[in-house]
Amino acid sequence: MKLRPSDILIFLLSTSLLAVGCKGSNNASDASNTPKDTDTGEEPDSDDVLTPDELATPPGGQNVEDVPQFVSIGFDDNGFTDSVGWILDYLKDKKNHDDSPVRVNFFMATGYLHKDDINSQYAVPNPGEDLNLLRDLWKRAYTEGHGIGNHTQHHFHGYDQWDSSFTPKDIFTVAKWEDEITRAHNVLADTEYGPGIEKLEVVGFRTPFLGYHDNLFKALENLNFAYDCSIEDGWQEDQNGTNFTWPYNMINGSEGDKVIVDFGFESKAPRDTIGSHPTLWEMPVSPVIIPPDYRAQEYDFTPGLRKRCHDEVKYFDMKQGKATGLDYNLLEKSGDTYNLNKDEYLATLKYTLDLRLKGNKAPFLFGAHTDFYSEKNPDFTPPGTTWQERREVIEKFIEYALSKPSVKIVTFEDILKYVKDHTPSDNLDSGTDSGTDSGADSGSK
Ligand SMILES: [Zn+2]
Repeated sequence: MKLRPSDILIFLLSTSLLAVGCKGSNNASDASNTPKDTDTGEEPDSDDVLTPDELATPPGGQNVEDVPQFVSIGFDDNGFTDSVGWILDYLKDKKNHDDSPVRVNFFMATGYLHKDDINSQYAVPNPGEDLNLLRDLWKRAYTEGHGIGNHTQHHFHGYDQWDSSFTPKDIFTVAKWEDEITRAHNVLADTEYGPGIEKLEVVGFRTPFLGYHDNLFKALENLNFAYDCSIEDGWQEDQNGTNFTWPYNMINGSEGDKVIVDFGFESKAPRDTIGSHPTLWEMPVSPVIIPPDYRAQEYDFTPGLRKRCHDEVKYFDMKQGKATGLDYNLLEKSGDTYNLNKDEYLATLKYTLDLRLKGNKAPFLFGAHTDFYSEKNPDFTPPGTTWQERREVIEKFIEYALSKPSVKIVTFEDILKYVKDHTPSDNLDSGTDSGTDSGADSGSK
């Protein structure tokens, strides 16, 4: 049985961030009955609507009543045919309230489809997979209108903030990032072993392991990407799920990244915060909010959930309830992740969406992996859920989201187009024309 550490490491990294981030703000690991460390079962003020700052305001200063609640799921990696097929089949005929098709995103680690001349310990074809079928499914995702993003060819660590063995010489140069990304573009564009999706149609990027350095963003600009979706945003103390940051232009770098830099570094290669990248937009990964006990009946989970999360992950802040907004963190049992059961997983997704609906309606861009919904993946078998239950949760969450009149489930590209179209150009004093002519518009394919 092949050990495929890629997915595990991705989210260990993300949770490491959480670990470091919370150390400064609470002592959850050793206190037991402080207010922050207890879910009293009574309604606290923690999900009151906070006053949003500029980045948390809907684009163009619109009233929240006038903006859609965008939802999307970005599925990374995509190396198993059964689970890519499952989600495509499930979404095929789903419609939003305005009759537009429900569509999501797939960020392809192309090494799962086509091995090249460089060995990777991460992204290689899964044993026994029908690669012609996988290619056809990737093509089908594209032709059915889902967003197709680039997640590199080999799924390497180009930068690792949380590994003490990572040194300055390990940092990917701009050229190395360009090579990894261009190789993935080439596989996607290939019409024989690849799905034949042209480079111009692939305008979004997520970095493996959420590991990045400013060199990455220089490469993304050089390669004319429209957006990145690798930066976590929402660990700020004054953000609580009702006022997360909307997608933003990177002319001023990234506020979310400044928080991450403030958390500190375990690697031997500390970096500066991300610089100015006026042609790029960030569609951030925001935390999900694990629901508190006073919501247990409403959201149909057994009380004590935040306590159980704290038992799994010592740095989990029981008052804030934040967890990295990726399925791995919620589902795996690693000592650094939450091993939620299906009721808890569904409750968390619903509650996180509902906080946005009562707040600033920042798009809910959940990070997921079709590989974790495969019946064939021997490397992802957390005790809390079965693959069937995990699929059921995603389906039920999508049904729930679509029951809300203002929800619209569309691609990252379509959401970005909306944000750009509603952002006054004088907010983007970059010397460019605000980037509204970038390739993101091609998302409406
Ligand atoms: Zn990945």
